[in-house]
Order: sequence, then C-alpha cells, then structure tokens
Amino acid sequence: MIKVAINGYGTVGKRVADAVAAQKDMKVVGVSKTRPNAEAFIAKQRGYPLYIADMSKKPAFEKAGLAVAGSVEDMCKAADIIVDATPGDVGKTNKPLYEKLGKKAIWQGGEDHEVAGFSFNSDCNYKDAIGKQFVRVVSCNTTGLCRIINTIDKEYGVAHVHAIMVRRGSDPGEIKKGPIDAVVLDPVTVPSHHGPDVQTVMPHISITTMAMIVPTTMMHLHAVQITTKKDVSRERVIELINRHPRLGLVKKSAGVKSTAELKEFAMDLNRPRSDLYENCIFEDSVYAKGKELCFFQAIHQEADIVVENVDAIRAMMGAEKDGAKSVAATNAALKFIPIQNYH
Ligand code: NAD
Repeated sequence: MIKVAINGYGTVGKRVADAVAAQKDMKVVGVSKTRPNAEAFIAKQRGYPLYIADMSKKPAFEKAGLAVAGSVEDMCKAADIIVDATPGDVGKTNKPLYEKLGKKAIWQGGEDHEVAGFSFNSDCNYKDAIGKQFVRVVSCNTTGLCRIINTIDKEYGVAHVHAIMVRRGSDPGEIKKGPIDAVVLDPVTVPSHHGPDVQTVMPHISITTMAMIVPTTMMHLHAVQITTKKDVSRERVIELINRHPRLGLVKKSAGVKSTAELKEFAMDLNRPRSDLYENCIFEDSVYAKGKELCFFQAIHQEADIVVENVDAIRAMMGAEKDGAKSVAATNAALKFIPIQNYH
C-alpha cells in the first residue's frame, strides 16, 4: 500500500483524499488543516488522521472535539508521498520540508512549473513521471485542454490551437470571491497563462489562449478551435471522444446546453460531490471542416485534476508502468464512467 499524506484539506485536498482512499493500492495516512472548520469534521468522519500546520492551534482543535495526530512534519514523515493541495503559492513554501525529509511530493496548478520542474497529465506524459521525486499536476483548465489536444494531435497532428476560457468566478463554497456582476478579463493581455501552461506538458503544441472570469461557480467553459495538419472528420472525433476514459460527450439526446444542467446530471448520477472528472464536450458543438475543428467543452474545476493526482502517485511510486492501466484502475475504483454512457 502506498502511504499518501494530503497537505491542505480544502476543495482539492478533500477530493484527492477520498479518491486515494478508494484505490486498492494506496491509503491516506493523514490530512492537514490550518483551523478547525467543517472540513476538519469531515476528515474525522472519514477516519483520516488529522495533522495541523500550526501546533499552537492544537487546543482550538481539541476544544472542538478534533483529535490532533501531530504536525505537518509528523504527517510527512509517516508518508511515502505527499499531495500538496495548499493554496497557490503556499505549496512552494513546503518544498524545503519535503526535500529535508527526502519525500516525494505532488503540487497543484496554482504553483509554477518550476516548483517541481515537471508538469503532469496522465494522458500526455505518464511514462515520464515514473520514479520522479517532484511533480506538478497542471490546473483544471490546462488538464482539460491537454486531454483533448493530445487526443487530436495523436490522430491528425495539431498545427495550432486557439482557445477561449470562460472561467468560473469562484468555487461554490468560496463566499469571499467574485465577480458578482461583471465579466472580468483575466488577464486583459493575450495570451493568458493557459497556453504556456499547456506547453509545460506538450512543448511542441502551438497554442494561443484568452481568458475571462464570469459570475458562476459551477464549471469553466472553453471555446476551442484547433487547426489540424490532416483533414479532420467529425464522426472520427466523436468516436475518439467516446473511447477516451476521461473525455465525456454531452449528447444531443440529453438536452443539456449549460453547465448548470451538467452539474444537475452529475448530482442525479450520484457522483461523489457531484464531481465531473471528465471533460464535458458538447456533441452538437463539434464542427469539422477541412483542417478546422471547433467545439465547446465544460470543465469541472474542482474535479478533473483529482483523478490525475491519483495517477501521478502511481507513476512516481513506480507502482504501475502503463499509464492506461493506471487511468483504468483509478476510474474503476471511483466507479467513474464518462457521462456519454448514461444517455
Ligand atoms: P482551498 O483554499 O480550497 O484549500 C486549501 C487548504 O489548505 C485549506 O484547507 C487551507 O486551510 C489549507 N492550508 C492553507 N495553508 C496551509 C498550510 N500552510 N499548510 C497546510 N494547509 C494549509 O484551495 P484549493 O482550491 O483546494 O486549491 C489548492 C491548490 O489546487 C491550488 O494550487 C489551486 O490553484 C489548485 N487547484 C484548485 C482548483 C479549484 O477549482 N479549487 C482546481 C485545480 C487546481
């Protein structure tokens, strides 16, 4: 069993913890919190040993009825590998600790590529992560872009990608973020960081991205235009999406044309936390003519990177050499079957 610690038990960390706990070959040896809040009680309910970043807060946790197993350093010592899901830019400050203890660590997309020197996506570069000490799982948007661009690149060759990201303003539980009544260009300048971020995984891909933030919490939406090297067939693209373990197809028959209806679908499917681990590509939007391919895809920001973290653990620990087998094992343990299989 691979012993996994989750440093930062928030939106991403709590999902990764449950996904790890569901796997046959790994277990959660601890999660860390900064303060005793509702998530800390969920950790207790799940039976995850609770460690804390600041030991001076131990009395506050104990007063709330939360047993503290020790410090973050104690937690890291008990683990083979640490998934760092602390907020962006906090993660890098933990690197000296992981180095001191000689532990493997995974960071999230809120950190720069340089923190690990290797940016990961199961679909694109699983093999290159085997045995690595440090890996960064790219952001939710970059993960969604990498999966589909790699799929099209392998089939047709990608000459150029142009993608526009309509990003959610905050996660549903974040009460202090916005906007609540604006479309914010973030950034105003072109390209946004997403294109260069895709290139940290696939340096050979030519890509330009633009991004804005809108007042919604459910999902991101991408408008993607890919120029291919060979003529592209709509039927074949749909077939490729259908066959892919992490590309979802929103078929016309579902009558779904919004992120809200997609999240409702996920809730009705009894997905954990109504998570959509797959890209949600709208079938009716898939347009192919000559060397041009266009589509809309929705990305559940809280979820798509969760399954990638599990695969990154397996690769780094050398527990599975075949990326496709790891993806299949991760998906099966979560009983995750892409949405097209339900309608
Ligand atoms: P979050 O704020 O929901 O959770 C972070 C958790 O870390 C909180 O529980 C916080 O209390 C804890 N924490 C803060 N400082 C800590 C410290 N020094 N030691 C231990 N714990 C600490 O953040 P999140 O949304 O889960 O984001 C985590 C990372 O994942 C970021 O890099 C982010 O960019 C990335 N990411 C987030 C999303 C998303 O939609 N939320 C999607 C993809 C990637």
